[in-house]
Amino acid sequence: MSLIVQKYGGTSVANPERIKNVAKRVAAYRAKGDQVVVVVSAMSGVTDNLIKMAREIMPLPSEREMDMLLSTGEQTTIALTAIALQALGVPAISLTGAQAGIVTDGVHTNAKIKNITPKQIRALLDQGQVVIVAGFQGQTMEGQITTLGRGGSDLTAIALAAALKADLCQIYTDVDGVYTADPRIVPTARKLPEISYDEMLELAGLGAKVMQSRSVEFAKKFGVIFEVRSSLNDNPGTLVKEETPSMEGVVIRGVSLDKNQAKLTLVQVPDRPGVAALVFKAIAEANINVDMIVQNISHGLASPATDISFTTDKADLLKARKVIDSLKDKIGFREVIADENIGKLSIVGVGMRSNPGVAAKMFETLAQIGVNIAMISTSEIKVSVAIDLAKGEEAMRAVHQAFLG
Ligand code: ADP
Ligand code: ASP
Ligand code: MG
Repeated sequence: MSLIVQKYGGTSVANPERIKNVAKRVAAYRAKGDQVVVVVSAMSGVTDNLIKMAREIMPLPSEREMDMLLSTGEQTTIALTAIALQALGVPAISLTGAQAGIVTDGVHTNAKIKNITPKQIRALLDQGQVVIVAGFQGQTMEGQITTLGRGGSDLTAIALAAALKADLCQIYTDVDGVYTADPRIVPTARKLPEISYDEMLELAGLGAKVMQSRSVEFAKKFGVIFEVRSSLNDNPGTLVKEETPSMEGVVIRGVSLDKNQAKLTLVQVPDRPGVAALVFKAIAEANINVDMIVQNISHGLASPATDISFTTDKADLLKARKVIDSLKDKIGFREVIADENIGKLSIVGVGMRSNPGVAAKMFETLAQIGVNIAMISTSEIKVSVAIDLAKGEEAMRAVHQAFLG
């Protein structure tokens, strides 16, 4: 008998028909004698719609209330999934994140899991129940509902697999696995049989939303091997696991495009020590993640000044702008310019470590199709560039063609 954690994403539970399909798959595993814990997302579009409604009332709503609101999406799905299993004659029970024992810190809308006490889940499994857990949510020690960041049901599944020491963790979605690029943008993309945690982490953090990046970080930390596969067929998926020596043989594993980035530029910042520290400390204190940073000295001015640009998630743009505006008098820059029309294009692969010239080839490919590079950042296993959003998909296909055919 195996203990299996299965996660079904939004499109896999998009309507009652799909939920019935999920129930059939779960029932088939249970009929083999396995114990199954099912994590579900909100039905596709529900979370976005709830956010939209809140923002129609107020552009920057309270984060506590957003968690209260968004957690309802997953609660609808757990109940419907339990009902679908019961309709098949399978004993099943739904649990909220809190009931499942998921305890988080208090960072509303982006909480981290502090610990999981799966006592209740274990007891229910031992009674023969299929346990359906609401993804993406938890509870603070003080009893406040929190959510785990967009795509957070992936994290719920991986964290539960770790806490329960599950034999298998399966992430069911609407594609057959992890591809060399988003197959919706690059038709020639290929499914990868396996990928290392580090590569998956980079791809996920750089726009490949097939997995939430924090969930991959968690899987790496706790050594949870998981499979990404389709809920619509029985094709084998992609195994995500520790790097093996043979993985280095491939220079570029995948290409990703993040369309959800925005650039903020502080124009004519006085060129003195401590200014960058002031800006990025305030941004960090507001829990805003910054990725690329570029600073350029402006020449020809009476007193020395620089322009500082940085990128954040589009969702954090309003918040970041508010933080920067509050520093205006203290720092004395001229103005702030926000640019939402950027795309971050990245190539990722552990084989890059031992293959020089990868960045040059990427820049050359972009030059050939007339794409200008606004910012660059690199790590040992990735190269990212910020480019014009309108040219993002064309550039992605060209770069995929250059490295992966
Ligand atoms: P779910 O609702 O199941 O969580 P998501 O929409 O979050 O599913 O993630 C699946 C989607 O991720 C796919 O439909 C695909 O368009 C997109 N995607 C982006 N990059 C990749 C990639 N490299 N491989 C596979 N899918 C990708
Ligand atoms: N429903 C949440 C979202 O749309 C969490 C998830 O689907 O994983 O981000
Ligand atoms: Mg997802």
